Amino acid sequence: MTSIRTRIAPSPTGDPHVGTAYIALFNRCFAHQHKGQFILRIEDTDQLRSTSKSEQDILASLRWLGLDWDEGPDCGGEYGPYRQSERSAIYQDHIKILLDKGHAFHCFCSSERLDALRKEQMEQKQQLGYDGHCTHLTAEEVTQKLEAGEEHVIRMKIPEQGDCEFEDLLRGKVNISWSQIDMQVLMKSDGLPTYHFANVVDDHLMQISHVIRGEEWINSVPKHVLLYQYFEWEPPVFCHMPLLRNPDKSKLSKRKNPTSINYYRDMGYLPQALVNYLGMMGWTMPSGEEKFSIEAMTEAFDISRVSLGGPIFDTEKLDWLNGKYLREDLDDISFAQAFATWAFAQDRVARIVPLIKQRVERLSDVADIAHLFVAGLVSVDEATFAHKKLSKEDSLAILQFTLWKLEALPDFERETVEQCLQELAQTLDLKIRDFLFPLFVAISGKPVSVSVIESISILGLDISRARIRHAIEILGGISKKQAKQLEKDFRAM
Ligand code: GLU
Repeated sequence: MTSIRTRIAPSPTGDPHVGTAYIALFNRCFAHQHKGQFILRIEDTDQLRSTSKSEQDILASLRWLGLDWDEGPDCGGEYGPYRQSERSAIYQDHIKILLDKGHAFHCFCSSERLDALRKEQMEQKQQLGYDGHCTHLTAEEVTQKLEAGEEHVIRMKIPEQGDCEFEDLLRGKVNISWSQIDMQVLMKSDGLPTYHFANVVDDHLMQISHVIRGEEWINSVPKHVLLYQYFEWEPPVFCHMPLLRNPDKSKLSKRKNPTSINYYRDMGYLPQALVNYLGMMGWTMPSGEEKFSIEAMTEAFDISRVSLGGPIFDTEKLDWLNGKYLREDLDDISFAQAFATWAFAQDRVARIVPLIKQRVERLSDVADIAHLFVAGLVSVDEATFAHKKLSKEDSLAILQFTLWKLEALPDFERETVEQCLQELAQTLDLKIRDFLFPLFVAISGKPVSVSVIESISILGLDISRARIRHAIEILGGISKKQAKQLEKDFRAM
């Protein structure tokens, strides 16, 4: 039997998402259950959106969860490089194969032409997609255009008729009509591959036997299957996992639920509890046991038992499970150690101590001030937000605008946060002291505290966001209508 190889292929374009950890867990269980390998590949072909900070965060958070990998950009392996930006020559070689075989073609259409085509298709209520214009160019015309240096992309050809039929491990046969599939761009005008092309080439070259990924990719399978056929390669087994959902059944989104793994770490969840909880998404242990380790899950794993009903990611259930871990798995000494490691990480302490030292006369004064750094949400009431120069609406606007600004920051260094808040205060024509007041209350629960700018910088986006959102709720929340107006004002700034 060929060996079982699975992979997780995150794009480093933002916070490490719990959905990535969920898919990593199932891939890892499946591979290790079969004594195979679990691989981590970084799909960073979108140069504008990919950042190395996001890549580092993804690696660190998966490692924190104990979801380590057998081959990857950090530890290497036989099939590297494991970062797509380092594999350009491989994609160049492979696109030549498809061009030579006539399965791909150069497309010189301008964005104006493509926009007009799209508009027309929308007006005529036709299927959107490329109309094959450049498939009619002769070989001489293509050569001439290339020699003249005309900007172009490379697209794949798609059958004009019939259906694509493929097997999904959990769904059985799936049929998708070719008429719904666009002549996908494989190589962009910058010479870099698109997701679809690089993903298939790499899955093949890295000998991935099973592609286990989120359901959102199922409509891409026809393009992938066709690429395997064009290359005359054996396709892997496809398995699309159900998407995680908010308690109201909508797709898990950060508007309704924290989605960053960092949030769960910073809130003081134990990694083994979070992994266990992710293992309950679409999966139940044959024994019915709800508390289980990754090793136990790997041993009992049977992918065909994954249920397709959308699993609900419910933080209340996670709280219950985490509490169980804290009580049952940690004796008093390990509990104290776990708390100390979480609360007093050295780099944090180094920043917190100078803030506290200035304000205390006795060591017994410390806990009261330090509380804000070792809490999740802080308790706060509406009356504390009362301020002579700011109405409740002003405070709500300040909190919401700050949140949007913080979410867009490239980093959380003190200077970056400070500059961002100062600019916002200026735009709102407020004195910095007045502007910062609702933030003081939201972040610390008190009208006066240590520097709120420094606090936000130390706490980071996830905890700051949770507290600001909590404060907005305490102040009565923002209606849909108000949110629309605020968004408009924000964009006009
Ligand atoms: N880069 C894709 C992502 O970000 C990978 C999808 C796949 O697993 O094929 O999710």
